Amino acid sequence: ENTLDGKVALVTGGSRGIGAAVASRLAAMGADVTLTYRSDRERADALADRIRRDGGRATAVRADSADPAAVTAAVDGVAADRGRLDILVNNAGAFLLGPVEQLTAADVEQTVAVNIRAPFVASQAAVRHLPAGGRIINIGSNMAERAIFPGFSLYSMSKTALIGLTKALSRELGPRAVTVNLVNPGPTDTDANPADGPNAEAISAFTALGHYAAPADIAAAVAFLATPEARYITGATLNVDGGFTS
Ligand code: NDP
Repeated sequence: ENTLDGKVALVTGGSRGIGAAVASRLAAMGADVTLTYRSDRERADALADRIRRDGGRATAVRADSADPAAVTAAVDGVAADRGRLDILVNNAGAFLLGPVEQLTAADVEQTVAVNIRAPFVASQAAVRHLPAGGRIINIGSNMAERAIFPGFSLYSMSKTALIGLTKALSRELGPRAVTVNLVNPGPTDTDANPADGPNAEAISAFTALGHYAAPADIAAAVAFLATPEARYITGATLNVDGGFTS
């Protein structure tokens, strides 16, 4: 299981939900993980403590993905402190929904900043550090491919941008043996989309499996893409959505 021994990873938005599951999983596989958060320092530190108690290596750093300088500093900081960076997981996301005429300019700015600019800027900074075998893994959304509910115009638009980023960057980094992939989660039980929320039953009904994912289900796919075994997968979109888009 220790297939990531000696690797250094950065997971954005890693204090809760999918990012926390990814950080825990990568650390359990031997990676030295840094996770970013925006506001809840206690929560982030508690997760890093828990990972360390379990014998892993983890550090939490505050970096608001809406701020490109903070994103770049987080990437460069990991590379400077650890002497390398092997795996970047762009997970932090803004989830601003509503009828298109009610979404504000600030909503658009926040969504574009966190869901599009941050993965771009983080990748740009990471490229300077990633060695052969390096990994960039973006977290998109099932809503990029099948925007089945009203209110998702802004969010779906932003997550669709990650398809282009993933494909184009895979071409650019392929010659360096760095892979770039996109994981599109389906409905996943987190604070942002609780499995016991008011619309959960309706959402579940659109999956083939009939239920939500656990954050660990998404983390398992991300972890596989991070391993050396996944070296021939690049530019790909992996739907981990219980058949939501099937
Ligand atoms: P959660 O709301 O459960 O967790 C969000 C995490 O990201 C927290 O650690 C939070 O830190 C951090 N975060 C939020 N905003 C920022 C920011 N601006 N800068 C840095 N960190 C930030 O989200 P999920 O786990 O549900 O979502 C993770 C990703 O998965 C997102 O990209 C989302 O779009 C995507 N996704 C989720 C689905 C779902 O059903 N849950 C479905 C499809 C895609 P803090 O506590 O400090 O705010």
